[in-house]
Amino acid sequence: MTNNLSQFNTINNKINLLSFNYVQMCNFFLSIGEKKYCADQIMYWIYQKYCNDFNKMTNLSILLRNKLNNICIISAPKFIEEVKSIDGTIKWKVIVNKNFIETVFIPERNRSTLCISSQIGCPLKCTFCATGQQKFKGNLNVEHIIGQIWTVCKILNYNNVSKIRPITNIVMMGMGEPLLNLKNVINALEIMVDNFCFNFSKHKITLSTSGIIPALDKLKNSIDVNLAISLHAPNNFIRNQLMSINKKYNIQNLLCAVKRYLKKSKIKQKRVTIEYVMLDHINDEICHAEELASILKDIPSKINLIPWNIFPNSKYKTSNMIRIKRFSDILINKGFLTIIRKNRGIDINAACGQLVGRFV
Ligand code: SAH
Ligand code: SF4
Repeated sequence: MTNNLSQFNTINNKINLLSFNYVQMCNFFLSIGEKKYCADQIMYWIYQKYCNDFNKMTNLSILLRNKLNNICIISAPKFIEEVKSIDGTIKWKVIVNKNFIETVFIPERNRSTLCISSQIGCPLKCTFCATGQQKFKGNLNVEHIIGQIWTVCKILNYNNVSKIRPITNIVMMGMGEPLLNLKNVINALEIMVDNFCFNFSKHKITLSTSGIIPALDKLKNSIDVNLAISLHAPNNFIRNQLMSINKKYNIQNLLCAVKRYLKKSKIKQKRVTIEYVMLDHINDEICHAEELASILKDIPSKINLIPWNIFPNSKYKTSNMIRIKRFSDILINKGFLTIIRKNRGIDINAACGQLVGRFV
């Protein structure tokens, strides 16, 4: 029997099984003339045992193992370097198509978050973000995105760390703008929540975006994970200077899109996380806090104030704690749930906006 495999993504003409959710895996096995239950068996090996060697999959017939060796692989991008912060954060450098991306594991007392990348660099070039200052090298495909989670699970599993701290949360807050890589990101999110794959609750996954409105509208029709919006300014004048994407998708239109997303979402506690990086004397005045409260007044939200993380050759300074606290108090007094985000992994350049795929 000849199999038409042209519909699948291939590496060296081999299909990478890390790019399939359960239904796609079933269809794949049917397409190569095998039974559907083989998909269950393979999913078990990949997502329970973190095994990528067909020869070790002892409950598959030798004939099937040989066949799979010939036509497919289970291949994650290579993790080539690991750095640990004094606060327990771990950052890995990962190689994708001869470029580097970064993946960050952030353990806390009652949860452990993995921050994954969606692109190599970022084309949006926000002025306060280190990722945006490097050259954009392209989108990650599904197996690159899923491979980051899969490899970290494998590493933690081997080190037995997972018994104490499994990954409980996934945030798409690493390198890149996920909504500019929508198709692959949606496929990857489906694998994250698939019972046969990682089986994450959608409540435990957060996608952070600078606000690509048409893509946000498409996302809401596909899958509803938690949404974080990189707002960073209370008005278009300031946001235009920080994020040039605002000239295309301004604050008012973006907040309307957020409302549409929340309306469609089936997540129990419907609210958006508003990310607001604190830049000294740029967006941290009393009037800015008041203006922010006014534009968010009819949007269920949680506001994360992020002390800006420094990177070389940047013109910005982070707001001092007195200014951040003053800003936060105004929002809290107006009834907003407001959190000053703790910086994690700052000593290893693993904090928000410091990821550049290069190790110092
Ligand atoms: N592109 C997406 C997701 C990646 S950035 C987005 O912009 O939302 C993840 C978060 O880090 C975003 O809120 C981003 O604005 C913020 N960030 C970027 N550079 C930063 C820096 N130097 N200090 C603190 N936060 C930063
Ligand atoms: Fe890209 Fe987000 Fe950085 Fe802006 S803040 S350059 S959108 S990664």
